[in-house]
Amino acid sequence: MKFGGTSVSTRTRWDTIAEIAASHCANGKRVLIVVSALSGVTDLLKRLGETRDDFAQARQLRDTLVARHHALFDEMGLPKRNAIDAWMARLDQLLEDPRHSEARLSWQAELLALGELCSSTLGARYLNESRLDTLWLDARDFLRAEALPNQSEWGQWLSASVRFGHAPEIAAGLASRGDVFITQGFIARKDASDTAVLGRGGSDTSAAYFGALLNAEAVEIWTDVPGMFSANPRQVPDARLLVRLDYAEAQEIATTGAKVLHPRCIHPVRDARVPICIRDTNRPELPGTEIGWEARDPVPSVKAISSRKGLTLVSMETISMWQQVGFLADVFEAFKRHGLSVDLIGSAETNVTVSLDPSDNLLDSDVLARLCADLERCCRVKVIAPCAAITLVGRGMRSMLHRLSAVLAEFGALDVHLISQSSNNLNLTFVVDEGVVDALIPRLHALLIQADVMRVTDSRVFGTSWSELAQVQTTRRQPAWWRGQRERLLELAQEASPRYVYSLDQVRAQAQALKAIPAVDRWHYALKANPHAQILKAVHAEGFAFECVSWNEIAAVRNAIPDLQAERILFTPNFAPREEYRAALHAGVLVTLDALHPITEWGEDFAGRDIFLRVDLGVGRGHHDKVRTGGAQSKFGVALDEIAAFREHARRHGARIIGLHAHLGSGILDAAHWRSVHVQLASLAEQFNRIGILDIGGGLGVPSRPRDEPLDLVALASALAEVKQAYPQFQLWMEPGRFLVAEAGVLLARVTQTKRKGEVRYVGIDAGMNSLIRPALYEAWHEIVNLSRLGQVADELVQVVGPICETGDVLGGNRRLPVCREGDVILIAEAGAYGAVMASRYNLREPASEFCL
Ligand code: PLP
Repeated sequence: MKFGGTSVSTRTRWDTIAEIAASHCANGKRVLIVVSALSGVTDLLKRLGETRDDFAQARQLRDTLVARHHALFDEMGLPKRNAIDAWMARLDQLLEDPRHSEARLSWQAELLALGELCSSTLGARYLNESRLDTLWLDARDFLRAEALPNQSEWGQWLSASVRFGHAPEIAAGLASRGDVFITQGFIARKDASDTAVLGRGGSDTSAAYFGALLNAEAVEIWTDVPGMFSANPRQVPDARLLVRLDYAEAQEIATTGAKVLHPRCIHPVRDARVPICIRDTNRPELPGTEIGWEARDPVPSVKAISSRKGLTLVSMETISMWQQVGFLADVFEAFKRHGLSVDLIGSAETNVTVSLDPSDNLLDSDVLARLCADLERCCRVKVIAPCAAITLVGRGMRSMLHRLSAVLAEFGALDVHLISQSSNNLNLTFVVDEGVVDALIPRLHALLIQADVMRVTDSRVFGTSWSELAQVQTTRRQPAWWRGQRERLLELAQEASPRYVYSLDQVRAQAQALKAIPAVDRWHYALKANPHAQILKAVHAEGFAFECVSWNEIAAVRNAIPDLQAERILFTPNFAPREEYRAALHAGVLVTLDALHPITEWGEDFAGRDIFLRVDLGVGRGHHDKVRTGGAQSKFGVALDEIAAFREHARRHGARIIGLHAHLGSGILDAAHWRSVHVQLASLAEQFNRIGILDIGGGLGVPSRPRDEPLDLVALASALAEVKQAYPQFQLWMEPGRFLVAEAGVLLARVTQTKRKGEVRYVGIDAGMNSLIRPALYEAWHEIVNLSRLGQVADELVQVVGPICETGDVLGGNRRLPVCREGDVILIAEAGAYGAVMASRYNLREPASEFCL
């Protein structure tokens, strides 16, 4: 197991390392832990290596290094520092060493090695203190650096390669000494007693060398990302986790840009056929990326699109090249002479263009100038920089060309300097100007998915997207309430399924959060969201009034709360029959009119009454077209150009307009929305005589998709306060539904059957669209988990479907769940609003029952 810099820099991280190692031991495995230096330490050592005669700076850097290690030592609560101080003493000796002022390569390598020697020493002490018997090993006793042909001096000391291969005697020797070992990444023995370091990504490479040497069961690279992705997630947030790659694909992705794994570490494990996995230290439950011998998907497909910036192109032009024996040999001889390794090559009758990758080369302008001077002797040279290489990686690239037309069209619009198709049929590379890359990669990624050459529905290869993984942690400020009630919920599902379960505590908590907004004078619960009697009582107890849209809703609330005053009910119907208005008025309920018809045709009913007028501010908002309730396409409210006529009729019939109302949609997560409605209603109300109340509606959203940011109630409070300060004459009312109950409700269902058709897997449950219609009606996204297997790795991509005879009976498309079995309890979250109340008996199936906790 290899742990990188950030994974070894705090005590908590070391606790995680101890836990992971202990769990392997509990499964009868022996573990070798390979560590990097504490984060930032190798950089400090590098800078120290460059100080030469600047003793003051050297001293300062030395002190920082010592303090950094002592601080972790103290944080770990370790008793004595002497183990670490021995390395600090070695640091002091090196600073006194005569090789310091010359910055000799052997000296630099020894200095750099100190970072890993210190971190592994600290780690060994801590793991032993944590009761994990751990033996410290000096990696240099096992890994021997060997010079590659034509390798520069610099490379031999500071970017060394190691001879590798299975050494059964070493494995047996270690097996006889214990079960847990810790050693350093990045360092190796050179010659008899010198130290060399392995260069960038050296710790990964060390782990791979050790994996091959010991013929390990697996090499695990523990890092702080979940694995390799189908693109750089910083450029493409929708990039998908690659759950399985073969060695060749992983090598290509690593070589062509992904920084997660150093390309050098594939070769040793591939030769030894040792699988290598990338895992996230923060989220060990995620599957990560597994790299092994066979690919899981037999068909050609693009697995990733990667990019490398900082490339330099050297274009060499000569007429005499045509059929000239030895021209290429002469040209490449010059590159060899200057220690430059060539990456991509494009050739024409009169031109050869090659690329130089800065990560393989010590590229500076001097080297380039010297190279060009040499090359000028046999050709005309042009240097093109800065360039970037964009690479599509996947097996069988040549057989996919006909499906890449949309991708190629994107390149057609650009200046492409070089195209290279690798002879192993694994990559297709385009070299373009560096500046276009960041905007281009997300477009190309989307086009690859659209053309189905990147087959993201294949769950054997592709996992969850980066944005979903990243947001799961950040936006879920607190774990949902149901996570703490698993046992109880499983029991409830056992009793009856499908079943809605509501947490009244959660309803109260949401009500209290809203009541903390001082600008709102009266809160109403829009009971269309969920009219369960216990919920009505709970919000009533929190001081909420009620907003109803039908006579039956009025009856339901009066039934649940018999002593409720009629004026605590606001009736806001739409296209309701005349009798409902009459009944409401008769009961003393406040009535809102949202059309001219009632006032023009039934005006006498409203004589002498106080009424509210619902206006249409001309635009709708919300999470889906079907919930936007503003604009000409929506049937709600009186259009602004009809308000004058409405007032005229109201005046004629002696109805008093005492309030203005607007509700523009549902599921809105942007606090600024209500600010704008508030301002618009207030300025409109100023034109009336008697208006004292503004009702700015409901629509307060709750995050559903992992990437949704929750509604910022502090921002909402301050926006409303600001408007209210400008219009203190108006009372402010609001009428949310969803916000109070959505998260409080879950729908529990049982797995009925599972099915596979081609690559598509279905998990059937006993709750269908007749219990929860939101996904079918609004394309709503509800989190879905297998409650019976909560915490198990969710690595199967499935369609969660119900038993209703409709193709649209899908509760969740493309969800990742652990392998589900008949009888497992599935939980559909955020189902408390517009769930049970919209249920039907379609197919004569009874919808889910309801239960309050
Ligand atoms: N007020 C009115 C007039 C509505 O039509 C609705 C929803 O349809 C609401 C309030 C409640 O909306 P939400 O549940 O999104 O808060």
